[in-house]
Amino acid sequence: MALHRRHDIRATMDADIYATAAADLSVPKYRLGENALRADVAEALVRDELFRDGNARQNLATFCQTWVDPEIHQLMDLSIDKNMIDKDEYPATAELESRCVHILADLWHSPKAADTLGCSTTGSSEACMLGGLALKWQWRERMRAAGKPTDKPNLVTGPVQVCWHKFARYFDVELREIPLAPGRLGMTAEEVLKRVDTNTIGVMPTMGVTFTCQYEPVAEVAAALDRLQGETGLDIPMHVDAASGGFTAPFIEPGLRWDFRIPRVRSINASGHKFGLAPLGVGWVVWQDRADLPEDLIFYVNYLGGNMPTFALNFSRPGGQIIAQYYLFMRLGREGYRQILRNSYETAQYIGREICKLGPFELAFDGDSRKGIPAISWMIKSGAEPGYSLFDLSDRLRVYGWQVAAYTMLPDITDVVVIRVLIRHGFSRDMADMLLEDTKRSIAHLRTHKPGVPLAADEGTTFTHHALPKEKLPV
Ligand SMILES: *Cc1c(COP(=O)(O)O)cnc(C)c1O
Repeated sequence: MALHRRHDIRATMDADIYATAAADLSVPKYRLGENALRADVAEALVRDELFRDGNARQNLATFCQTWVDPEIHQLMDLSIDKNMIDKDEYPATAELESRCVHILADLWHSPKAADTLGCSTTGSSEACMLGGLALKWQWRERMRAAGKPTDKPNLVTGPVQVCWHKFARYFDVELREIPLAPGRLGMTAEEVLKRVDTNTIGVMPTMGVTFTCQYEPVAEVAAALDRLQGETGLDIPMHVDAASGGFTAPFIEPGLRWDFRIPRVRSINASGHKFGLAPLGVGWVVWQDRADLPEDLIFYVNYLGGNMPTFALNFSRPGGQIIAQYYLFMRLGREGYRQILRNSYETAQYIGREICKLGPFELAFDGDSRKGIPAISWMIKSGAEPGYSLFDLSDRLRVYGWQVAAYTMLPDITDVVVIRVLIRHGFSRDMADMLLEDTKRSIAHLRTHKPGVPLAADEGTTFTHHALPKEKLPV
């Protein structure tokens, strides 16, 4: 066809994105293109690029929120241009941030909840850095006052999320991480006492350990540190990484003591975008008392108007997530959070019971709300030889769109593989049944097609699920 004819046809097809010239060219990958594209065409092309991402709600490996209600979409859109750092220009957003801080301080039983300090962050990682820095500054002051050297700070933790490894390296603090051991999947008072000394800036337990989903025994560790202080005078503060647990335990296990009811707990962080149910991009850190945050760490800036205090690693940040967090507090209240969590725990426990009927599995974590967050993890029973590994199962579940994490308890226990499934807001019982059905199909497939056994030459190029009965075919 003559080229000019093609252009004519294209002009009349203008409304159809896939008939435009742009849709017929490869998109820029390494260099900025020379020309502009129609907005709807560019949007469609970008949208199509995203096809290969997983479906977020089927991602059961993440702790982060993957479902938000339509009202949150509206509030996020409304606030897309609000910079939360600019508290003079956006005083209402600043006010909502401040309310969230005090609500959390109260939820976590700060004795001075209406007066204490805290702030929003990008997530728990930044919140942990700020909590850790406050501990380091306080420790250094204590050491200086006592005329002691300040060059060898250390932090005692259980098996931690990577942000604490970052904190230790970025801010030059020795990380004394209690290793996982068979039969000991987290911090214990005894192991803490073996590691603390005058250079310990703090002890940091986790509420909802990444590897095990479990709560570490904050109250027991605090009691041990109380005894240590009684015997030696050494007064070691605690920060709790409650990235997940900060939004689960207060609602579902209000009697569990892990927060500011324990005087030794001086600061707490949590991820608003995990069980806080806010969209991605918000975390919180709160100090038990104003005095726990050294004034020296706060900067005052006047170039946005007013004289604004700031303690953060970032400067400009979107305000929408904070606004959404406040909306959720108002919308759900304690009862709303409790009900959502109750469903999540019940769904987790249900999957735990059912999964063990499908193969030679046993639970590593059963979704007990007294012990941890709404999740389950399972492993292959010791001695069982099903002919496939949990890595194979995880891999096979991807065929149906599910992303479940299979991992070893690195770095200390490398011979136990677990699969972990997080249950979050927006994951219904019906979805649990879909997951179980697909797990059953995956196991049937792995039994017939043993992983690691090369296919016969004539099978190599054909689709391999023909050995399954017809009604079991993936749909
Ligand atoms: C998720 C998580 C973090 C990091 O939080 P982000 O909000 O992803 O930055 C830190 N600690 C624990 C225990 C976590 O689960």
